[in-house]
Amino acid sequence: MRAFKLFALLAVLVVTACGEGPGAGSPDDGLVVYTARKEHLIKPLFDRFTAQTGIQIRYVTDAAGPLLARLKAEGERSRADILMTVDAGNLWQAAEAGVLQAIQSPVLEANVPASLRDEGKRWFALSIRARTIVYSTERVSTADLSSYEALAEPRWSGRLCLRTSKKVYNQSLIATMIAANGEAQTEALIEKWVANLAVPPFSNDNKVVEAIAAGQCDVGIVNTYYLARMVADEPDLPVAMFWPNQQGEGAAGRGVHVNISGAGITRASQHVAQAQQLLEWLSGTDAQLQLALLNQEYPVNPLVGLPEPLKRWGKFRADDIPVAEAGRLQPAAIRLMDRAGYR
Ligand code: FE
Repeated sequence: MRAFKLFALLAVLVVTACGEGPGAGSPDDGLVVYTARKEHLIKPLFDRFTAQTGIQIRYVTDAAGPLLARLKAEGERSRADILMTVDAGNLWQAAEAGVLQAIQSPVLEANVPASLRDEGKRWFALSIRARTIVYSTERVSTADLSSYEALAEPRWSGRLCLRTSKKVYNQSLIATMIAANGEAQTEALIEKWVANLAVPPFSNDNKVVEAIAAGQCDVGIVNTYYLARMVADEPDLPVAMFWPNQQGEGAAGRGVHVNISGAGITRASQHVAQAQQLLEWLSGTDAQLQLALLNQEYPVNPLVGLPEPLKRWGKFRADDIPVAEAGRLQPAAIRLMDRAGYR
């Protein structure tokens, strides 16, 4: 306890000595980021930010759940300035739990489309993750593909592969299907997906792609970066992406389901201006291109074009339902998948 008080006193002294906060290049105690993103994806960007601004960044990596639990337990004493994680559902939960604060930033509001940030300004997307249909280029014609919903058709009987319903990616996808089609219709669709499964659901997206390549099934649904990485390693892989829900009225033409990685500033942050500077920098064109390249994700900033490796898959129209809806409807999606027998 005494050590903690001494530490707190020193921290106050450091902050006081810096007055209004350091300018570029001044020494400082720096920012602390709690991040569910893997180190190799974020460290190059943090290093670049530090080189440009002199602001040091320390980070703690863990899964989203433990990071949120830690922020809640630490409360006002938390040393974390930023929470960075994947999936709008996780960010939505962090905002609901009250561990994030609203920030006023015209830069973030210009760089991040409205559907990809919190209405209450507590979190902002930093990259887009598209969850799309993948298919065997040997056994499927794109003329047979149209929408997520159409994978319920009898023609896909014994030909569909899915990842487990326990994964938040599928919970968010089904949540947006509920928003588009209503709960009863979505439940009937998911029952048919389950009836069309070639094999029980897999534990991860890579296994879905591998099963299609191996001929166990013909179509599946995965996040694009998994296939993009696999194709980078094995250019002849006989699996390709299809952008669903691009045509038609209403639910049929609503666009590809997208989720995000994103970040918000903690309520406990003592370095709000610097934390905001980092988030604004991450939403800028330079960092956006790097972020997209590092994990083969898509930029959120509309001014940034597609990075070279992603150009081969072409452009798609994304579902512009606010990603926060996926968070709100996740509990309903989980119950629905359970009722429909999607394990
Ligand atoms: Fe992933």
